[in-house]
Amino acid sequence: MPESPVRIGFIGLGRMGTPMAGRLIAGGHEVLGFDLAEAAREQLARAGGQPVGTAAEAAAAELVILMLPDSGVVEAVLGDAAVATALAAGSVVIDMSSSEPLRTRALAEELGARGIALVDAPVSGGVRGAEEGRLTIMVGGEDEVVARVEPVLALLGRVVRAGGIGAGHAVKALNNLMSATHLWATSEAMIAGQRFGLDPEVVLSIVNGSSGRSGSTDNKWPNFILPGSYDSGFGLRLMLKDMRIATRLAEAVGVTPALGLQAVEHWAAAAEELDPAADHTEIARWIDQRDSSH
Ligand code: NAD
Repeated sequence: MPESPVRIGFIGLGRMGTPMAGRLIAGGHEVLGFDLAEAAREQLARAGGQPVGTAAEAAAAELVILMLPDSGVVEAVLGDAAVATALAAGSVVIDMSSSEPLRTRALAEELGARGIALVDAPVSGGVRGAEEGRLTIMVGGEDEVVARVEPVLALLGRVVRAGGIGAGHAVKALNNLMSATHLWATSEAMIAGQRFGLDPEVVLSIVNGSSGRSGSTDNKWPNFILPGSYDSGFGLRLMLKDMRIATRLAEAVGVTPALGLQAVEHWAAAAEELDPAADHTEIARWIDQRDSSH
């Protein structure tokens, strides 16, 4: 892939895709962006990108980036006949969505047979990280292909090689299973502390210098839960999707995710009651309200 500028097709201009596409444009690349939502395409135009009316038009670019909800949508988009025709041999597809590692491997084989390379590159760091180009990008794929796309990915954040194809998606799902499990555990402990009369700010300052520290105590509680904004930008349903990917992966390799399955059950109960658009940090408020009659 030439250093710059690259003609990039970007499919999926949601909460993450929009700021990511914006960084690629700011980095000097030509971005042909598609999303089902017209408002998202208009926003791309305002950022200096070129909105297109179909996924196939975006897929005609030499590098195609996907930032879609899940594997099902990724497969549907790439399986569309017009997209399949538009994707030329020699092009590279980067799936930056949090997809399912085993399905990613199968997709890589399918595309590989047509001379198209697939790289998985899911991210962590949230909407803020996407806006500031400070994402952690977990990359799976063949070394030579990854090396070609690395200069583009570097505009979005820190590129970390996870391994072969599917490795990025596996790490991402496992990370989110850990993250969701300790956000739940942290929330129970923080709420219990508050009801005992502890000052939550004091609890966080102590825990963050102690062994209970986690991304939940370090970031989610102080920035999104205590202020009551619940606006991390990462949906509760997307978190639950990732947790299920991780527990399925564990089971597929013979590990019993005992605590993970319980966490899925708890989060699923919350997802049923909360608005479909609820932020994942709302889990803390849900636990608090569930137990408010005690
Ligand atoms: P989102 O729901 O905001 O965006 C998804 C976008 O895909 C939407 O704009 C939707 O219109 C579009 N879309 C859906 N189907 C489509 C189709 N067939 N063709 C074209 N566009 C289509 O989601 P998001 O928060 O941006 O997350 C995207 C991915 O990144 C998910 O896999 C998520 O798990 C992952 N992720 C999100 C965050 C976060 O903080 N939001 C962080 C890390 C990873």
